[in-house]
Amino acid sequence: MEIIRNQPLAPLTTFGTGGQAQFFYNPNSKEELVDKISELKKPLWFLGYGSNVLISDKGLPGTVLKLAFNKIEMTEENDSWIFTADAGASWDSLVRQSLNHNAWGIELMSGIPGGIGGAVAGNIAAYGQAVSDTLLWVEVIDTNAAPAKIIRLNKEQLGLTYRNSDFQNNKLAGCVILNACFKLSKSNKKNLEYSSALKVADELCLDPQSLHDRRKIIMESRRRAGSLLEDNGKIIKTAGSFFKNPIVEEAVAKEIIKQEENNKDLAKVIAQNKIHGGNSTRVSAAHVLLAAGFKRGQSWGPVRLHPEHVLKIENTGGASSQQIYDVAQEIMQRVKEILNISLEPEVKFLGEFIK
Ligand SMILES: Cc1cc2nc3c(=O)[nH]c(=O)nc-3n(C[C@H](O)[C@H](O)[C@H](O)COP(=O)(O)OP(=O)(O)OC[C@H]3O[C@@H](n4cnc5c(N)ncnc54)[C@H](O)[C@@H]3O)c2cc1C
Repeated sequence: MEIIRNQPLAPLTTFGTGGQAQFFYNPNSKEELVDKISELKKPLWFLGYGSNVLISDKGLPGTVLKLAFNKIEMTEENDSWIFTADAGASWDSLVRQSLNHNAWGIELMSGIPGGIGGAVAGNIAAYGQAVSDTLLWVEVIDTNAAPAKIIRLNKEQLGLTYRNSDFQNNKLAGCVILNACFKLSKSNKKNLEYSSALKVADELCLDPQSLHDRRKIIMESRRRAGSLLEDNGKIIKTAGSFFKNPIVEEAVAKEIIKQEENNKDLAKVIAQNKIHGGNSTRVSAAHVLLAAGFKRGQSWGPVRLHPEHVLKIENTGGASSQQIYDVAQEIMQRVKEILNISLEPEVKFLGEFIK
């Protein structure tokens, strides 16, 4: 694969914003990447499917690496299936293949956009399952080491926590994920406990104990939650939930969940947050935004909070990354002033922004 100069990055992100990569490299295999890595102009940036990034309008200096290899392989082992997926494969193609083999463990994460590399780097999670539950190991190249070589890291070496990993901080920031290996079960090990999904199951007469019904339940739940990139042919330019659910004192949590329209009590919200992998005092960032006075559908020119799902910041057409960044900063500042809560973006900012 050739190295491309001045590659536009906006079409490679779900926000549809951002400038150009000075250099762009899309290797077809990990061996090709090992051979070429010393020639790549630094800094290096790792891009997956662009569903959780906001790229500077000024573009990115150095080289953007986007891995093209996308094989998924599986082997049988006693009561498990072992799936190894290349970083460039889409997350949902792995989920679909696991279902084809009646393998349990990632089905509740059906329909999450993005690739395998981004899924591990962000320790994605939904409806009670997280990547860290079933991941065994990853192969990486440490791009700061010379000579470049492929190394295997076990799950325990990756610092996987709520929507985070050491790939997002100094410890492993220079490591590009090449592939990931998951151990999935031949039998069901976890109940679906999420109330909105159980309501969907009930309404559609689907069985939450059936693996294949689970995917249908989750896809419909995600559609209702505005968590699919495409709904009835309409593409939404968003990176999903913009902020992580913050940790707050229980008294603050009580105040914030007054924003909950479904009359859930604190115990239910806490239980739900636990299912999401949070701890007992993590509250929904959506409720935090509402409590700070932000409104669904509120807009700043072409930047809008989704009309139903306030946590999703959208580009309704022609927004720049800086405009989206400015709205995110305004939200964080106002939430801090009014509620004294520090929101942390789930979306990764790549490149320079005007502060
Ligand atoms: C509509 C919508 C719904 C969503 N729903 C959910 C959800 O339910 N749960 C959830 O957890 N997330 C959700 N997300 C967020 C997003 O889908 C995930 O974070 C996804 O895993 C990002 O993958 P990506 O390939 O798009 O990564 P990118 O957006 O391209 O990159 C994200 C980060 O991962 C790093 N990265 C990517 N590939 C590699 C690699 N090979 N090696 C090292 N680092 C790498 C990047 O440098 C960047 O820091 C949603 C997003 C959208 C748009």
